[in-house]
Amino acid sequence: MLTVTVTHKAYPHATHPALTDLHLSVADGEFVALVGPSGCGKSTLLNIISGLDKNATFSLQLDKQHLTVQQRFPLNMGFMFQESRLMPWLTVLDNLLLVLDKSKQSREQALHYLAAVGLADHAQQFPAQLSGGMQRRVALARAFVVQPRLLLMDEPFISVDAPTAERLRSVLLALWETSRPMVLFVTHDLREALSLADRVLFLSASPARVILEQTINLARP
Ligand code: ADP
Ligand code: ADP
Repeated sequence: MLTVTVTHKAYPHATHPALTDLHLSVADGEFVALVGPSGCGKSTLLNIISGLDKNATFSLQLDKQHLTVQQRFPLNMGFMFQESRLMPWLTVLDNLLLVLDKSKQSREQALHYLAAVGLADHAQQFPAQLSGGMQRRVALARAFVVQPRLLLMDEPFISVDAPTAERLRSVLLALWETSRPMVLFVTHDLREALSLADRVLFLSASPARVILEQTINLARP
């Protein structure tokens, strides 16, 4: 189980703190959605957990062990952001190999995940040759290929049309169900949260606080 407490986070020159006294936890194998208004601090929270943002007073505990920034390694984090953030000068396959070592086994692993997202035939193409939906499939494969213990997702399907987002959610769930990493999935879309998550945390306007928590009984295989 991962436990997150952010005591205080303020951006320089801001009149109000972005986060204060926010507390949440994710159990092993649990898919948690965070829903809250724009600007409440959701991205800030993910940046703090990932270690990208070190200028905050916070604590992270994994199975009751305190984790410093240097100790995030066991979480083996996978990420997905609002944009695909693929490297345009690398092929689809090389975008995945970028997060792996250079062994033959890694190459097989990358090809396995590309097949799992339906892109086996696109490994040698460049991101610009793919549709937006397909680029997001690559980003999904890249998030899972590291076999994360924790997956952080920040509105990953926000800029695709509704039918494409629906297909991507199915791909995400199929990948997730094979290894069930802990997931923190940020969205402003309540329906999306309810269709994916085991538990939905509703956050207040800035600074974010958990104001309501709802367990969802999804029929998981
Ligand atoms: P959300 O992801 O919920 O939309 P954010 O975490 O992006 O919210 O932002 C939380 C608050 O912090 C907002 O008031 C936002 O304007 C502010 N903020 C975010 N990033 C920065 C930054 N780099 N510098 C200053 N203020 C920021
Ligand atoms: P989108 O609606 O953006 O195409 P999807 O990822 O759902 O999103 O695409 C569905 C399928 O359609 C893909 O898996 C792929 O096989 C095919 N496809 C879509 N766009 C292209 C393209 N530009 N080139 C080749 N195949 C494509």
